[in-house]
Amino acid sequence: MLGLMQDRPLLISHLIEHAARNHGDTEIVSRRVEGDLHRYTYADAHVRAKKMAEALQALGVVAGDRVGTLAWNGYRHFELYYAISGMGAVCHTINPRLFPEQIVYIVNHAEDRVLFVDLNLLPAVAKLAGQFKGVKHIVAMCGREQMPKDSGIPGLLCYEELLEGRPGTYAWPELDERTACSLCYTSGTTGNPKGVLYSHRATVLHAFAGSLPDTLNLSARSVVLPVVPMFHVNAWGLPYACAMVGAKIVFPGVALDGASLTALFETEKVSFTAGVPTVWLALLNHLAEKKQRLSTVRYAVIGGSAAPPAMIEAFQRDHGVEVLHAWGMTEMSPLGTVNHPKAKHAALDAAAQMANRLKQGRPPHGVEMAIVGDDGKELPHDGKAFGDLLVRGPWITSGYFKGEGGAVLREVPGRGGGWFATGDVATLDPDGYMQITDRSKDVIKSGGEWISSIDLENAAMAHPEVAEAAVIGIAHPKWDERPLLIVHRKAGSAVTKDALIQFLGSKVAKWWLPDDVQFVDGLPHTATGKILKTRLREDFKDYRLPTA
Ligand code: AMP
Repeated sequence: MLGLMQDRPLLISHLIEHAARNHGDTEIVSRRVEGDLHRYTYADAHVRAKKMAEALQALGVVAGDRVGTLAWNGYRHFELYYAISGMGAVCHTINPRLFPEQIVYIVNHAEDRVLFVDLNLLPAVAKLAGQFKGVKHIVAMCGREQMPKDSGIPGLLCYEELLEGRPGTYAWPELDERTACSLCYTSGTTGNPKGVLYSHRATVLHAFAGSLPDTLNLSARSVVLPVVPMFHVNAWGLPYACAMVGAKIVFPGVALDGASLTALFETEKVSFTAGVPTVWLALLNHLAEKKQRLSTVRYAVIGGSAAPPAMIEAFQRDHGVEVLHAWGMTEMSPLGTVNHPKAKHAALDAAAQMANRLKQGRPPHGVEMAIVGDDGKELPHDGKAFGDLLVRGPWITSGYFKGEGGAVLREVPGRGGGWFATGDVATLDPDGYMQITDRSKDVIKSGGEWISSIDLENAAMAHPEVAEAAVIGIAHPKWDERPLLIVHRKAGSAVTKDALIQFLGSKVAKWWLPDDVQFVDGLPHTATGKILKTRLREDFKDYRLPTA
């Protein structure tokens, strides 16, 4: 027997409609690429999103078409999220930090019809435009007065001109909730990037789960500054979750340095922010240098890479900011786990509380997890056994765009099929907390045992003179692989290899200690801010360990 409840589809257009109707005067503040601050409300954003849907229709965009964006976090990008998906087309966000050839590959693979580009990215796009095969229109995301005289892009359109004279009365279509709404390519450290194609249903369910108190804890009282980019996994879903709960949004644009972020945090009274460790490193250094304190931020989410303990401590001790350690991936929309303590954890001592905080967190309802060994069989959730992490749920991918990479789902004996292998190696404990030990390809295999590169990096980063650290496995004739620690020292530091090894000696097992330390002027990062280990492996491919 079926239930008798209404079968209303879960649609992205309903989120902005809801925000405009119930939180119409709540502000969206943006630092524009031009440098100034722009303010308006959800009600304004809704009308402009409708006008943009009308403009896209006039440009010939139809349901299912891909519309690309190369843009930072700002109100026009926000309008495009809702206009494109709302009309049944697919909002394809493109990471401007990718190599030019990857951008060309992605635009052509997605078959983008129209491309929206922020002003400061136009020169780079002008160089590539000739190689975009199906792009009919390129639109500069600015007003008429900012339009470049000679952009080098034939027929370049102007965003504000496209909206002019439109009625703004567009009626959002009632789509099937499984309709594709947006597309994001994985960063692709190996091989070509692969597209993850989100649906309306997945996005709305992800926004519900993301707003829960033990997830991101968002409400109509939150002031949210997403440092995480809208060009990568939809800024962790914040543009949708904020509209769902009516939170004020503060978009930082392109200025993500410590001084610019601090100014916005303080003037807009930001209560919640989210970003990757590299951004927070720069912010905390800036604040320490200027002896400034954050006065309104209550939560800072750290995700994308493991949150170093020193960073969690600095946020808490120096700024009273509670760090929410989070884990996810492009293929998961992206939220998989967020770390909040349980009531019983209040009784633990400080060290035990910190040990728990370092875990990547618990999944909200909707994300199922399993860890399996080399034989594919499930391992116990005892917080000790670690294996390949598999996930299943309604906002997790079932396969890549156009079938790239073939079938991705597998079976876990005793728990059925439909599991996605994350490529991470993790433990699960009886309270539901997941802890990443490593990326499966980064784990160091020494004498048949595994050494966690993340644990070693965290231990090294706790040294006061270390700016950033990475650990990679180097081939060893006896042990198969041994760890090499690569360190970027803080300015003015002359800390030595011996001093660092001695420091690590008190933190990790003796057989984990790196066989050598190499100093570099800076570590390479991926377009999404992760340490680029493939580059480090390439840079050190001829390096021989002194112990080899
Ligand atoms: P992406 O799809 O680019 O967002 O990358 C997802 C990957 O980033 C995950 O599979 C993890 O390897 C890594 N990652 C994300 N969050 C964390 C975290 N909190 N700790 C450790 N690794 C993380």
